[in-house]
Amino acid sequence: MIESVGSSCTGCGACVASCPKACISMEGRELGHKYPVVDGDSCINCGACLRACHAAKPFERRAFEGRSFAVQAKDWKILEESSSGGVFSLLAEKVLGEGGVVYGSRWNRGSGAAHSKASSPGELAELRRSKYVHSDTAGAFKRVRDDLAAGGEVLFVGTPCQVAALKAYLGCEPESLVTVDLVCHGVPSAAFFEDYLRWFEERAGKPLVEYNSRDKMAAGWSYLGSFRVGAEPMSTLPVDDPYVLTFNQGATFRKCCYACPYAGSKRAGDVTLGDFWGVERLHLPIDLDGGVSVALASTEKGQKLLDRACEGRAFIEEVRFEEAARSNANLTKPSSLPAERERLAEAYASGGFTAVASLTPHLYKREILRNRIKRAVPTSVKRLVKGAL
Ligand SMILES: Cc1cc2nc3c(=O)[nH]c(=O)nc-3n(C[C@H](O)[C@H](O)[C@H](O)COP(=O)(O)OP(=O)(O)OC[C@H]3O[C@@H](n4cnc5c(N)ncnc54)[C@H](O)[C@@H]3O)c2cc1C
Ligand code: SF4
Ligand code: SF4
Ligand code: SF4
Repeated sequence: MIESVGSSCTGCGACVASCPKACISMEGRELGHKYPVVDGDSCINCGACLRACHAAKPFERRAFEGRSFAVQAKDWKILEESSSGGVFSLLAEKVLGEGGVVYGSRWNRGSGAAHSKASSPGELAELRRSKYVHSDTAGAFKRVRDDLAAGGEVLFVGTPCQVAALKAYLGCEPESLVTVDLVCHGVPSAAFFEDYLRWFEERAGKPLVEYNSRDKMAAGWSYLGSFRVGAEPMSTLPVDDPYVLTFNQGATFRKCCYACPYAGSKRAGDVTLGDFWGVERLHLPIDLDGGVSVALASTEKGQKLLDRACEGRAFIEEVRFEEAARSNANLTKPSSLPAERERLAEAYASGGFTAVASLTPHLYKREILRNRIKRAVPTSVKRLVKGAL
């Protein structure tokens, strides 16, 4: 039974999409994370769900024999709208230009985020930028399968577990599929995120018009996000924002994230993208305010797409993997399970997001103070210090 996957379940929905009797549903548990539940009366024990589940099999790690790069797109409009160095947009525009389609995550108010398709450059805008929440892939997997069957090239971008899940769902790795995984810290549930947004609106007394997990325009290349309520201008999320605090402390992720088999040098995708934190040490001849991506090419297919996409459109410099991973913990190990997760889960179960918001200032006094100090120091000073370390 698919329930035996237990806490290794990443919530990808491939089992639901594969069941011929439509007898699997996803039910919310701790911190709103969803897990599959089978209606035993309708199940015919065909095993299709387990065959489609990547988490039911060990991750076959390829040895990392690829190459690592620091990359920054030359187009500042792309950089402004991207989380790091804009490499996703370069890869996506290349695939679209060659007649293919692109799958990535877009905001989906009411259910967090969901994977959807872009068939033209105009549709890429909504896929840009990191959304720090679980993105629903169940519907997208079927559409990717249909697009591949129709013979076109497909670029799929997601967390490493989503990339592994797609391959397990397809049961093969067609040449016309290129996968990009992200360096991944972990994900809170869509239910938790939606409750946070409602709490946010109640506190503001106005509807939330825009929300970004990361926004360079509001706060430069950093972890800071932004929002707009009513007719007010964009503002930076406050230092004591309970969702961001608990995300950065890794306290609200799915259980599987704390034992993530994909947090290492051996990757699930053809290309891996992340923020090149610590890039100051390399003293590259680019403006770091625009953001810089770390890009790992793990396969020949990935390397070829990266080469085609970056040609004439990006600054690109090869680096050692160890340098890329030095300030990016999730390239070497999963996030640690903090003791606060249980207290937050209890608070959420008993009093919803309001109870979480009341608890976080007590749990994270030191982090809030540290955030205040960090924001008071100009970015130029922070960069000088980091460059000297
Ligand atoms: C939940 C999450 C955690 C991350 N943790 C880290 C980290 O610890 N360290 C690090 O270096 N980088 C991390 N990243 C990756 C980083 O934030 C950037 O996404 C990456 O550097 C690519 O940036 P870009 O400028 O090339 O493109 P962007 O335009 O920013 O592209 C972002 C890409 O990610 C996809 N995406 C956005 N949100 C999600 C989501 N929730 N689920 C699946 N796919 C999504 C988009 O569709 C798009 O393809 C994380 C991303 C996510 C979504
Ligand atoms: S990992 Fe995906 S396929 Fe496996 S049990 Fe969880 S939702 Fe189903
Ligand atoms: S064994 Fe077959 S019928 Fe039963 S839940 Fe799994 S896929 Fe559905
Ligand atoms: S940390 Fe691992 S298991 Fe969790 S969302 Fe990221 S890739 Fe998936």
